[in-house]
Amino acid sequence: MAFQLRSSTIRLGIFISALVICLILVFQLTWLRKTYRLEQKEFDISITKIIHGLYEDLNAGPYNAERLNELIERPEPQLYIAKVSLSVISDSISGYLKDELADFEVFTNCIYGIYDTSLKKFSLTGFIPGASDKQKKETGLPVLARDFNYIALYFPNRRQFILSQMNFWIISCAILVVVLLLFSISLYFFYRQKFVNETQKDFLHSVTHELKTPVSVISLAADVLKEDEIRNDPGRLSTYAGIVEYQAKYLDKQISRLLAYAQTESGPIKLSMEKVNVHELIFEAVNNLAPLVAERKANLSFEMNAMDPIIVADRNYILVVITNLIDNAVKYAREPVIVITTKDGELTFDFSVQDNGIGIEKSQQQKIFKKFYRVRTGDTYITKGFGLGLTFVKTILDAHMSKINVQSELGQGSLFKVELARS
Ligand code: ADP
Repeated sequence: MAFQLRSSTIRLGIFISALVICLILVFQLTWLRKTYRLEQKEFDISITKIIHGLYEDLNAGPYNAERLNELIERPEPQLYIAKVSLSVISDSISGYLKDELADFEVFTNCIYGIYDTSLKKFSLTGFIPGASDKQKKETGLPVLARDFNYIALYFPNRRQFILSQMNFWIISCAILVVVLLLFSISLYFFYRQKFVNETQKDFLHSVTHELKTPVSVISLAADVLKEDEIRNDPGRLSTYAGIVEYQAKYLDKQISRLLAYAQTESGPIKLSMEKVNVHELIFEAVNNLAPLVAERKANLSFEMNAMDPIIVADRNYILVVITNLIDNAVKYAREPVIVITTKDGELTFDFSVQDNGIGIEKSQQQKIFKKFYRVRTGDTYITKGFGLGLTFVKTILDAHMSKINVQSELGQGSLFKVELARS
């Protein structure tokens, strides 16, 4: 047996996957930040060790090496300054510093300077280019006034160097993010395709049901009408002829609906605009639906509050909109009580159809305007339809630059509000 997942199950799967993806991303970012901090710390330790090395190389540190950490000042992240005794500092500092930087693999531009308190400036400055950095002379070593002599080590590209040490992690993180994004996009399209397939399958089911049922009834009635005895029973004859007529009319109506829909699919609908009285159209629609209203014992009431019911629109299409909304209000209620209201909007003519029917869940309220979409409840399946009525309504209203919206509570009823542009 084929294993089929419904789109609601897939939606749950996608929700969980999205959650997991978000968690992975948060985890990755936190981990990257942590690695960056560690790399920063490691850089600082290397510089401390380099300064320690310099003290030893030049015999320049009059201080206890164990307290070295405290002796290094960090006025800004790229700058390290440490006390020195000037007398022993010589030009050879460049060579020593180069060796120390290489020993600790600090391959980034370094500007150094020896500050002399008596001069209140650097008595010696130099530049050691990093291996991977651009080999250009750097300037910008800040002079900080202190009452002691110090050596200043300035690494203008410290941040970039640390980040370059993390290249592998950054690239692997970026790849992971891209893969997760691609995965999410594929999931989204998979879900959308599944939704389309499902609604199309439901549509085929509805078409088969809507067209096959009257055809079967007609052929059964035809079998009865072929019987010889029926000619002697005019009552029975007329009943069966009536059944054929009713089913043929029903079939005709359904085929017209499908054709009307096919027409809207073949391109933008062509409107023939004229002045129409919407109040008259409402009564015409109700009149057309009289057999259904009678069959379902629907109770219709009207609150025609609009003072100016005249708009410029395509008469036939607006009639379809009104008819579809009232038709649905009758179809989707057990004992329909329907209120049709009109009022003058600022630039619109507003009307609404309110019913006491089965209602529509919040999550479904936008979907019902999508083609072939029908809400899956026990009741809906008893009610016949193609899931095209509201799609058609929306297409017509869009062409008229008009709006429709729905307010509904499950089990309480629905209110469809239409704002028709006046011209
Ligand atoms: P159809 O009625 O042919 O199925 P529609 O496009 O007119 O197609 O409606 C789409 C779906 O919206 C219906 O299948 C039904 O589930 C829901 N619906 C429409 N109008 C109402 C209403 N007044 N009350 C409850 N549900 C409604």
